Amino acid sequence: MGRVWNFSAGPAVLPEEVLREAADEMMDYRGCGMSVMEMSHRSKVYDKIIKDAESDLRALMGIPGNYKVLFLQGGASQQFAAVPMNLMKNRKAGYVITGQWAKKAFSEAKMYGEAVQLASSADKTFSYIPDCSDLPVTDDMDYVYICENNTIYGTKFKTLPDTKGRDLVADVSSCFLSEPVDVSKYGVIYGGVQKNVGPAGVVITIVREDLVRDDVLPGTPTMLKWKTQADNGSLYNTPPCYGIYICGKVFKWIAANGGLEGMKKRNEEKAAILYSFLDSSRMFKGTVEKKDRSLMNVPFVTGDEALDAEFIAAATAAGFVNLKGHRTVGGMRASIYNAMPKEGVEALVQFMDDFEKRKAK
Ligand SMILES: *Cc1c(COP(=O)(O)O)cnc(C)c1O
Repeated sequence: MGRVWNFSAGPAVLPEEVLREAADEMMDYRGCGMSVMEMSHRSKVYDKIIKDAESDLRALMGIPGNYKVLFLQGGASQQFAAVPMNLMKNRKAGYVITGQWAKKAFSEAKMYGEAVQLASSADKTFSYIPDCSDLPVTDDMDYVYICENNTIYGTKFKTLPDTKGRDLVADVSSCFLSEPVDVSKYGVIYGGVQKNVGPAGVVITIVREDLVRDDVLPGTPTMLKWKTQADNGSLYNTPPCYGIYICGKVFKWIAANGGLEGMKKRNEEKAAILYSFLDSSRMFKGTVEKKDRSLMNVPFVTGDEALDAEFIAAATAAGFVNLKGHRTVGGMRASIYNAMPKEGVEALVQFMDDFEKRKAK
């Protein structure tokens, strides 16, 4: 059995230690004679699993006591609707458009109220983060929305926008737990876990208590009302039990590997290896403005589609998989999430260098 170097944008690589532990516990979870998949979500055993997951996540991120942590379903995309449904009291919100995921959230919000585009980087194919130091935010906006790390285009907000006192809502799907975060700067932080935290099927929403409200938009489904989930400790109905269990293991793995400071250090080292190669290569080029480069998703091109395809095929054959860029941008993209070891990035860079030298002959 061989493991490949998996550069998938999501679902993505998970720590091997976590996978092994899960395998060991598959048939008999700690003496209870069944798998976590097979047990009641109301059992004592499962209650400990979900409570430990929440408290480990709180410790990792330093989540203040006045924030709720919700383990939900429907992916990040379901939260595109849940955000306006729960927050759009004035039926108005501002959106910063930095790529496909922000665009999708923006169109979803338009179904519920006035969604205003505050800034956009569409003019240069989302290859940068627009200046957000003086956005046209108005007092009647219920929130300001960003997609903090743009999975497809490989950009990341290095400073948060000035929201002029409005609550900041951030989709952090592809940078969740990749570095330390000051939760108190946000009203809501949410992310699908399949990029950096666990298996698809779980989305985690961290929301300040005063934004967990009863007066949601009329017609909001019970399941999409954050208060329903908050009042029931994410156990209003059957949660994605197994997914939450794996997330819990990943939280422990992160804690054992230096916490979010440790992740940041690892991620910066890995990204530096890849970006410095791209900056010196004559064949491969990064597509993002340097100041806005993501630590997690690294898009690059050769400038020749046929050569891109040849590279991807050769890389795949050599065990470097899922390097094809998103269907909307082409080229290549290496996603180097927390669980991608430094050795994987070094091996990829070595392979790219060899490919380039071979072609130059
Ligand atoms: C993958 C992704 C999504 C969509 O996630 P789903 O869980 O598939 O709905 C949304 N936002 C960002 C930033 C993503 O990377």
